[in-house]
Amino acid sequence: HTLPDLLAATVAREGEREAAIFVQQGRRFTWYELGRVVDAFAGGLHRLGLVKGDRVGIWSPNRWEWLVTQYATARIGLILVNINPAYRTAELEYALTKVGCKALVTAESFKSSDYLQMLATLAPEIASATSGPLSAARLPDLKFVIHMGEGSRRGMLSFTEVSEDGQHVSRAELDAISATLKQDDPINIQFTSGTTGAPKGATLTHVNIVNNGHFVTAAMGLTAQDRLCIPVPFYHCFGMVMGSIGCVTKGATMVFPGEGFDPATSLAAVQKENCTALYGVPTMFVAMLDHPDFRSFDVSTLRTGIMAGAPCPIEIMKRVVSEMNMSEVTIAYGMTETSPVSFQSAIDDPLERRVTTVGRVHPHVEVKTVGDDGETLKPGERGELCTRGYSVMQGYWDDPARTSEAIDAKGWMHTGDLAVIDDEGYCNIVGRVKDLVIRGGENIYPREIEEFLYRHPKVREVQVFGVPDPRYGEELCAWIVPKAGEDVSEDEIRAFCKEQIAHYKVPRYVRFKNELPTTVTGKAQKFMMRDAMVHELE
Ligand code: ATP
Ligand code: MG
Repeated sequence: HTLPDLLAATVAREGEREAAIFVQQGRRFTWYELGRVVDAFAGGLHRLGLVKGDRVGIWSPNRWEWLVTQYATARIGLILVNINPAYRTAELEYALTKVGCKALVTAESFKSSDYLQMLATLAPEIASATSGPLSAARLPDLKFVIHMGEGSRRGMLSFTEVSEDGQHVSRAELDAISATLKQDDPINIQFTSGTTGAPKGATLTHVNIVNNGHFVTAAMGLTAQDRLCIPVPFYHCFGMVMGSIGCVTKGATMVFPGEGFDPATSLAAVQKENCTALYGVPTMFVAMLDHPDFRSFDVSTLRTGIMAGAPCPIEIMKRVVSEMNMSEVTIAYGMTETSPVSFQSAIDDPLERRVTTVGRVHPHVEVKTVGDDGETLKPGERGELCTRGYSVMQGYWDDPARTSEAIDAKGWMHTGDLAVIDDEGYCNIVGRVKDLVIRGGENIYPREIEEFLYRHPKVREVQVFGVPDPRYGEELCAWIVPKAGEDVSEDEIRAFCKEQIAHYKVPRYVRFKNELPTTVTGKAQKFMMRDAMVHELE
């Protein structure tokens, strides 16, 4: 299937059943309605003169217009460019110019920031001109800004007016355009999370993301009876592929609690909409489980879901099973560059395997681990994980040098993650190659220390990383967020480690924080913590 073929098949099959619910915006769609609004907006984009291969950016939190834009752009072969809603003007300018977006779809505001005002600093016509295509000096490719609101605004079009105009385009006309699309055409540019530095734009095709969406929800046994709560960001592959496309492949109902993540709002959405499945990165599950009102929400309808995106602590997985009723929860491992998922546990894997590993490799994906000299390792040996198959991206957009660094001549994607695959094929992600700490010649895997510290009863969140040290090369540092109302000291943490882990693995520096620096996807940014510590130790 191409993405538009996939949606058309589901609309025809599921018809009047519920497709998507946006709790905060109070908007519900049946599959028929979704098909109709998608076609109207696609028609409008077509009437603006946008053609196959043109890039359209979307800069917005989780709103219904995001879902519609995703399928409307695909309907006529436009390449959707996901822009992080947390971006500010400099990053927006970088993303828009990097891929040469012709149009940008954006919300009016998100939390305290006004997107339109920020945009006006890049495209002054938005504040001054009356109408007509833009010709902003700093964004020479950008011709149209479409805001998600009612009424006209200077220099911009509204989502409503573009959709109304699109109703003049017949379904047959749109079908004719969709029919020209090929499975290997690029359909999406997704920026990576920026956990380790500047985000990279991965170019993905219909084959990449349609198939990955299918295998991800198949592993959970998702069907048209399921209702999946999606609090993860739409802009990220977790929301738009594993969430949105994953649901479309099964005809399952998508439930979006709100624009951004909030633990109570997510729990309330699960309860109100009787969700059977829930997605989240580890920090989101921690925030829900530790919410003071957690016990007042009835989440007993939950059955399955996915924790992914970052190392999933065993303790947290166990609590998700016992306290959230998600006895069939799975862990997925992947990266934006591989559409994203390559490993995932299946609901029929033994529970112990499901909470301690990222499961086994997805169908139609090849994997291997390699050593320092690129040699293929045996089961049980630790090395860099490489993946190959339908799911590997076309490349980083307009960046052949970085693409060939990541994907070798034989098509292997070098993930930058360290893994051990056992002889039954279950995989453990040990950490990122970049995060490996070498202290006085000893290799230390921060993940191992983090797992250990999670067992401390007063620890809510912990991140371990290395800082440069003149004597040992690197020293170990732990940043800890204590559980609410708990007071914990450095000595207590060290005493806990002593006698239980080797002396060189005991963090030299322990710091307590109220929160940790994270990406909008909720991933801890160790490079920010490292920079802050280096500064402190100077
Ligand atoms: P950037 O590449 O911009 O630094 P990023 O790698 O975090 O950011 P993503 O593509 O969103 O961007 O995330 C992929 C990475 O997330 C993987 O390479 C891996 O390090 C981590 N990851 C994802 N799932 C898991 C998991 N289940 N367990 C451990 N790590 C995971
Ligand atoms: Mg990455």
